[in-house]
Amino acid sequence: MTDATLPTGNVRPLRPAKAVPVCHLCPADDPSPSDPTFTVTLRPGFGPARRVRLCEHCHRGRPGRQHDELGPIDIAWRALDHDASRLLTAYEQGLWVPSGGEVEFAAGLARMAWTEESMRTAVRDACNLVYAGRLLRALDNNAIIVLRHVPADDPALHALRRLVHVVATGGEAPWGHPSGAA
Ligand SMILES: [Zn+2]
Repeated sequence: MTDATLPTGNVRPLRPAKAVPVCHLCPADDPSPSDPTFTVTLRPGFGPARRVRLCEHCHRGRPGRQHDELGPIDIAWRALDHDASRLLTAYEQGLWVPSGGEVEFAAGLARMAWTEESMRTAVRDACNLVYAGRLLRALDNNAIIVLRHVPADDPALHALRRLVHVVATGGEAPWGHPSGAA
């Protein structure tokens, strides 16, 4: 009789596959492999500062890219970027059909000059129009936070711009229209 609770000589301990460290900024449910050349300082609420790795997308896209330290603005950007990209994919796959109010909201966003203040007003006003719509939820406060730190044409806002454009125009190709179609 052997003790079934103890591993026998034939059982090897599970060895985790050597995983590539993931990007510190990417969401946990959608991780990207990090690039060892892209490191930043992370100063956690408690404990010592340490260097963490980013993926190329986060390294180039984060609004705090001029600073060697990861900040709350970068975290707000990553959430906004992720939500906007996910929503665009859902839209393109037909899994999300925006309401008339959301299309109208997107059209308004597409037309306006983006500043922290204009975005705050748009989000506030939209709450009556598109209450709890997915587009509004994707913006959350994050678009306002990002606009507080970067100009309206910053790459940090590209994913949101693309989403707004596609929803506002009913699914035209976001950039790079074939020219000379007239
Ligand atoms: Zn990343």
